[in-house]
Amino acid sequence: MKENKNLYRLIPKVDDLLENDDINKLLNFIPRKLVVDSIREEIDLIREDIKNKVLDEDNIKERIKLLPKLIKTRANRKNSYRLKRVINGTGVVIHTNIGRSLIHKDVMDNVVEIATNYSNLEYDLEKGTRGSRYSHLEDILIEITGGEAAMVVNNNAAAVLLVLSTLAKNKEVIVSRGELIEIGGSFRIPDVMEQSGAILVSVGTTNKTHLWDYENAINEETAALLKVHTSNYRILGFTSSVSAEELYKLKQKYNIPLIEDLGSGVLIDLSKYGLEHEPTVQDSIKSGVDVVTFSGDKLLGGPQAGIIIGKKEYIEAMKRNPLTRAFRVDKFTISALEATLRLYLDEENVIEKIPTLNMLTMGMDELENKANMLYNLLKAKIKHDDLIIDIVNNYSEVGGGSLPLERIPTKCISLKFKNSNITKFEKYLRELQVPIITRVYKDTIFIDLRTVKEEEFFIVVDGIYDALKELGGVG
Ligand SMILES: *Cc1c(COP(=O)(O)O)cnc(C)c1O
Repeated sequence: MKENKNLYRLIPKVDDLLENDDINKLLNFIPRKLVVDSIREEIDLIREDIKNKVLDEDNIKERIKLLPKLIKTRANRKNSYRLKRVINGTGVVIHTNIGRSLIHKDVMDNVVEIATNYSNLEYDLEKGTRGSRYSHLEDILIEITGGEAAMVVNNNAAAVLLVLSTLAKNKEVIVSRGELIEIGGSFRIPDVMEQSGAILVSVGTTNKTHLWDYENAINEETAALLKVHTSNYRILGFTSSVSAEELYKLKQKYNIPLIEDLGSGVLIDLSKYGLEHEPTVQDSIKSGVDVVTFSGDKLLGGPQAGIIIGKKEYIEAMKRNPLTRAFRVDKFTISALEATLRLYLDEENVIEKIPTLNMLTMGMDELENKANMLYNLLKAKIKHDDLIIDIVNNYSEVGGGSLPLERIPTKCISLKFKNSNITKFEKYLRELQVPIITRVYKDTIFIDLRTVKEEEFFIVVDGIYDALKELGGVG
């Protein structure tokens, strides 16, 4: 086919397209610039196809007829937020890629109150002078954990860096080889250690570290013993590690601080709710650890934050470290964290109002009910010969590097085609206006009811309906 200059004349002008009813309506809720850009981009695509001799006259006319729809889709996409809600059908409760912990509306009410008004963020109301932003969280953290002092930074990675930089710069820190972990997103203990200026002394072997391994490594240059919770993996079989209680003996004997990076930061005993026992922050402090660090948005179920609990002298030294200014939390974090921590004063509230814990402790009865509800809604709306919808048993995961071996029995909706391609369907669900993120195993899509809220069911049903309509019957 040769390039046909006349074909360009078939392309409508931008102004004419703006007069088109469907496109004109867009201007009511989409900024004009985004609509015009969308028109230009769609027109450019046609021009390119003509230039590259991809389209003949009939194709062009067809494409031009479709223009309003294409422009509408493009403009809507431009007008939607880049960071947006998604439906978590994966059953991974603390999923770092899709936002870790959800925050209850009651907690957000406090954030709205603080963010839309002035606050005593760094103002001492009693003295009428400058105050400290850390003061709002310190008392409640002490009350809940039993620690002496506390502070909060942006995330646990920053917390670990700050602790090491404050207590061990240019000095040695002893860590077990079995605990030199990497957490997703490039947090590696050896790298953090290097950044902090501390010198890593690793002891023991990958599977076994004994108390005497630590003891042999202690010298005048030793600034601290570090214990890292191997949150996202376990070495099974012929293993041994040294507990915080045992390390406490060494710490006493040689008078060196003992630091523990707990990672997840559980504040209640999850074994009461049928989950594996994960050492709590309180356990760690009781066993005599001097400084404990953990995340705010993993099992604690609050906003992104790094919480440091420890001996007063160490926390005071950290507050004076210039890094603290760089790692400081803003008022959103403080207000969300304070409201979340308050829930911990009454354990019943915790399970009800902390979505992460609510989802993790959800019973089989509730999961089964939810599965039946969603199944019935799907069956009522979706009539599709090729699609098999079922309720199946499966396992959810805690995620966020917490309780790595824990597989929690759950109920899922499974979607499977007799003939069509599941990959295309899964991709379509992911790219919906409200994306539905699912788990795919072999040729089946699983939607785990543990992480999908009841009020999201209609979004899921409509999403699946739209995807099937768009992709046609058998692909
Ligand atoms: C998750 C984790 C971190 C990093 O915490 P962030 O809050 O994600 O920065 C550090 N150490 C351990 C052991 C962890 O599990």
